Amino acid sequence: MVEQTSSQSLLSVTTQPPLAKSLSQLNAYQSGDLVLALSKALSNDLISHDALSYALSQVGYQLPASVLPRTDAQLEEEIYDYENPTAVKKRFSDFQERDISKELAQNIEEQRAYIVSMKDRLTVESAKGELDKCNMKYLNYNRKQLKECLFEMFSRLGLITRFKIDEVHLRHFINDVEKNYKRVPYHNFTHAFNIVHMCYYLARSTKLREYLEDIDLLSLMVAALGHDLDHSGMNNIYYQKIKHPLAMTVNDSSVLENYHGYMLFKLLSRPDNSILDHLTHSEYVRFRKAAIECIMGTDMTKHFQICGSFQNVIKKIHEGNFDRAIAEDRDLIMKTVVHAADISSPAMDFEDFKAQGFRVTLEFHDQYMSEMAIPDLKANNPPPAFMKWESYKSFVQSQIGFTKTFSSPILKQLTDALPESQHMMEQVERNVAQFQKELEELNMKEEGYSA
Ligand SMILES: [Zn+2]
Repeated sequence: MVEQTSSQSLLSVTTQPPLAKSLSQLNAYQSGDLVLALSKALSNDLISHDALSYALSQVGYQLPASVLPRTDAQLEEEIYDYENPTAVKKRFSDFQERDISKELAQNIEEQRAYIVSMKDRLTVESAKGELDKCNMKYLNYNRKQLKECLFEMFSRLGLITRFKIDEVHLRHFINDVEKNYKRVPYHNFTHAFNIVHMCYYLARSTKLREYLEDIDLLSLMVAALGHDLDHSGMNNIYYQKIKHPLAMTVNDSSVLENYHGYMLFKLLSRPDNSILDHLTHSEYVRFRKAAIECIMGTDMTKHFQICGSFQNVIKKIHEGNFDRAIAEDRDLIMKTVVHAADISSPAMDFEDFKAQGFRVTLEFHDQYMSEMAIPDLKANNPPPAFMKWESYKSFVQSQIGFTKTFSSPILKQLTDALPESQHMMEQVERNVAQFQKELEELNMKEEGYSA
C-alpha cells in the first residue's frame, strides 16, 4: 500500500524541473537522469521505496536493483562487486548493452578471475595482518572483512579507548556507512576503505600524529570513511548541468562534497551510531569542523589551492617551528592527507593502480553514456570526449597524465612533510615508468602496423 503522504512527496519531487521533465520523457531516458534524481529523493528520505516503486510501476517502469535497499542477509553475503559472479554477470550484460569496449571488460574480467582465485586464501586474519602495509591488497577482500579491518584500525589507533567509543555503536556505524555506499564501479565502499587505510597507515608509520590532536585523528578517520558517501558515480558537473536540486541547494559549489558531508553527519546523528557521545562540546565542534574541511577538500577543483597553502606548513615543519596549537595548520595537514589519500592509487602496486584506473574509467564511461542518452544534453551540452572509453592506449595516456598533474605533486608534498612515506613517491615513479614503457610499446606496434 502506498501512503498518501509518500505519493505527495513523489509529486513534489517529480514536479520540480528537471525531474518533471524526466518523468514525462521516461521512455526516452533509459538510464541516468531519472534514476539518479529519484535515487537522490530516496536517499534524502523524501519518499519511501514502496511509494516510488508503486508510482513508477504506474508508468511501466521498474526500479533498477542498484537503487533498491539491500537486506541485512544480502549484505552479509555480499562480496566485492567484481568477485560476485551474479554481480559480474550483470555488469557484463550492462557492458554489452552500452557497447563498452571489450578490451575494458576483458581487463576487469582478468582482475576478477584473480580475485576469485585468491578468495579461499584470504581471511579476516590475513586482512588484519596486512593493515600496517602501505600496499595492502584491499581490493582482494570482501565487505565483511573490510568492515572488521575498519574496526581494527580505530582500535589500534587507540581511538576507541581515548574517546570511550561504544563498540556496538562503532560496528553499527561502520555497517551503516557500508550500506550507504552505492555499488558504482569506483566511488564505492572499497574506495572509502582505501582512503581510511591510507590515513591509518600514515598515522602509524610517520610523524603525522605528532602534528595532530587526538580529536583531529578521530575526525580524520571518520571523514575519510564518509568522504564519498552515497556517491552516484556521476560528477559535480553533471549535477550542475541537469540543474539537480542538490546543485541548486549549494549554488553549484562542491555539490557532491557538500552532500557527502551532510550524509556523514546524518548517519552519525542516528542513535545506534552514536560514537561521539563522550566528546566534550569543544571536541565535537572541532571534530565537525575538521571533518567537513577534509571532505570539502576532496573536491578536485581545490587541488591547486591545497598544494599552494600546504607549502607553508612544509616550511614550518622543515624549520622546526610547526606549532600544533594553530588549528588552521592542523586543518591543512588533515586536508592534504585526505586529498592525497583520495588520489593515491598511483602509489599502490602497479596492478592495483591499474585496477583502480579501470574502475574510474568505467565510471566515467558510464556517465558519458548516461549523458548521451539525454537528448538535451547530447544536443546542447555533451560530456567531454575524454570520459568515453576509447582504447587501452588512451587509458594509459590518461593514467600518466592524471598522475603527473595531480597525484605526483600532492604526494610529493606529503612526503616532504612526512619523509617516512618517501617510498610512496618512489612507487609512483616506478608506476609512471611502467606505463610509459607500455605506451612506447603500443606506439611501436602501431608504427609497425602502418609501415
Ligand atoms: Zn574519494
